[in-house]
Amino acid sequence: MRILVTGGAGFIGSNLIHHLAHKNGAPSPCCPWNTAGRYPREPNDFWEILNLDALTYAANIANLEGITTSQCQSRRINVCDAPAVQDAVANFKPDAIFHLAAESHVDRSIAAGEVFARTNVLGTQVMLDAARRNDVAAFIHVSTDEVYGSVAQGSVDENGPLLPSSPYAASKAASDLLVQAHRKTYGLSTCTTRCTNNYGPRQHPEKLIPKMIGLAKSNKRLPIYGSGQQRRDWLHVADHCEALFHLLNAAQWGETFNIAGQNEQTNLEIAARVVRLAGGGQVEHVADRPGHDYRYSVDDSKLRSLGWSPRIGFEEGLKETVECFMRGTP
Ligand code: NAD
Repeated sequence: MRILVTGGAGFIGSNLIHHLAHKNGAPSPCCPWNTAGRYPREPNDFWEILNLDALTYAANIANLEGITTSQCQSRRINVCDAPAVQDAVANFKPDAIFHLAAESHVDRSIAAGEVFARTNVLGTQVMLDAARRNDVAAFIHVSTDEVYGSVAQGSVDENGPLLPSSPYAASKAASDLLVQAHRKTYGLSTCTTRCTNNYGPRQHPEKLIPKMIGLAKSNKRLPIYGSGQQRRDWLHVADHCEALFHLLNAAQWGETFNIAGQNEQTNLEIAARVVRLAGGGQVEHVADRPGHDYRYSVDDSKLRSLGWSPRIGFEEGLKETVECFMRGTP
């Protein structure tokens, strides 16, 4: 099976490539979750992987250390570059595309949103066009729970309204609608996933948990927006990757699936846990982010009814993540 991944040098994309490569029989170094036997591989699986990544500031090529070129070829291609994408897809002839390439940092989208509209909206259109023209059998679009906006109480299911608050979330919601339109208009076999906050190895240091660990490691102040009472649901990235892999085999095409950790924490709790685990640092409250959503919470019973559930407990996963970043491994 040939699998094309976009954004494979970023956080989730690189973990997905390690995950698929492990399924091929090659557990990677510095990926303890794979070697702990949590995700047994099927002996007959073999995935040929192509990664398309523009290598923006968010990419880290070291994220793919341990992956051989026979397991995964990488090409530096911007998903907005239609001729380059069409050429790559036509030559590789993927059976499935996992589309993860995106601008993903909310603060950056507030400071300068244009590149978010370009990559997340236009880039998705280009990927969908290439999938359709080349008869790709499965297009898995990796979206986010942020498209639903803030959820005051309970959890929102896949039929919930799209009420994004940040330019990042709005661009992802727009990309979800493009995916839906390509399914309805052209019959493309699509599946959209909306996952909660991920944590784990290989995350960019600008994101909440790695940033907190970096500051705690140097015994500095950990800035927390506003009261720090904003609530997020956290899922280990390896569990997210397994959910994506599970959907490749189990998805009803044309459907959307929420993916949750069912592990809600306030930002303040996260900072306090990091301080405890890293043995340093001190929380400092700073001015709140404009349009800051108070809470995200998705109901993922639809996915769980297909047999997926997370395997990495938060306490254990966070401890391993802190140790990983303290050691300086990506
Ligand atoms: P990331 O920022 O770590 O990685 C993004 C990758 O995409 C980088 O390697 C970057 O170089 C690449 N990229 C950016 N613009 C590109 C372009 N124009 N063309 C080609 N490549 C480009 O992001 P992430 O956290 O790994 O998120 C991956 C996907 O998962 C995103 O679509 C994001 O919306 C979604 N998601 C993330 C989370 C999370 O908690 N991190 C949660 C739910 C959904």
